[in-house]
Amino acid sequence: MIGIIGGTGIYKIVELGDEIVSRVVDTPYGPSPEMSVFQLHGREVVFMPRHNLGHAKPPHMVNYLSNIYALKKMGVKRVIATNAVGSMDESIKPGDFVIPNDFLDFTRMRKGTFYDDRTVHIDVTEPYCSELRDILISSGKVKRNGVYVCTEGPRFETAAEIQMFRQLGGTIVGMTGLPEVILARELEMCYSSICTVSNFAASISPSKLTVDEVFEVVETKRKDLIKLLSDSIAKIPSENQCDCGSTLDGAEVGDLLKPEDL
Ligand SMILES: [Zn+2]
Repeated sequence: MIGIIGGTGIYKIVELGDEIVSRVVDTPYGPSPEMSVFQLHGREVVFMPRHNLGHAKPPHMVNYLSNIYALKKMGVKRVIATNAVGSMDESIKPGDFVIPNDFLDFTRMRKGTFYDDRTVHIDVTEPYCSELRDILISSGKVKRNGVYVCTEGPRFETAAEIQMFRQLGGTIVGMTGLPEVILARELEMCYSSICTVSNFAASISPSKLTVDEVFEVVETKRKDLIKLLSDSIAKIPSENQCDCGSTLDGAEVGDLLKPEDL
C-alpha cells in the first residue's frame, strides 16, 4: 500500500481515484485523521490529511506519531508527503516543486521518536528514500535537491533566522517536515516529500508574509501536484530496491522488537 500525506491546502484528493472507504485508525498515540483508501493504477493508496480535515491542527500540534503509526498499521510501505514551503534561494520561485534530499531540524517541542523504552539510533545519512526521490524527479518538472529547514512555528521566521538558515545550507523552510520523515524511517517505511514553494521566505520576499498567498499558490499548483503524485505512483515498483525496509538492522542496542510486531 502507498500512503500520501496531504499538506496545507490538500485535504482530499478525490480526483486521484474512486474513493472506496474512509478510515480512522486507533493508535497508542491517539486516533488518526480520517483517511481515504482508493485504487490508483492498480495499487491501493491511502490518503491522509496531515492537519486533519479543515486544517484543524496547526503544524506544532499535528500528532506526527499517530499519523505515521496509523499509516504503518494500514500496511503502508511507501509514503509520499506534500509540504508547503518558503524559498530561501532566489532561483527557486513560488510555484516550483522541490524534492528535498536532506534537512536541518530546528523544531523544539516535538516528540521525535517511537523508541523511548529501547535504544535505537537510526542512520539518516540520506533521510529521504532515494528510490522514491528518483521516481518523483523523473515524473515531473521539479527541483531535484534542496535542504529542508523545519521550524517549530506557527509563526513565520524572522529575517535574521532566514539569513542564518541560508548560511547553514538551507534551501527551503517549512513547519511540518520533521519529525515525520524520521518517524517513517523508524518504522522502516520509504518516505519522500514534494515541497510546493508557496512564497519567498522573510527578507527575501519583497512584502510581508501572509497565509493567503500560501493557500493561493498551493491552490494554483494543485492540479500539477496531483498529476505528479499520480504519475509517480504509476512508476513505483512493487518490490523496493532501497534499504529503508531494513533500517533497524544494526541500529538497535540489544534484542529489540521490530515494527512487524506492531
Ligand atoms: Zn526506500
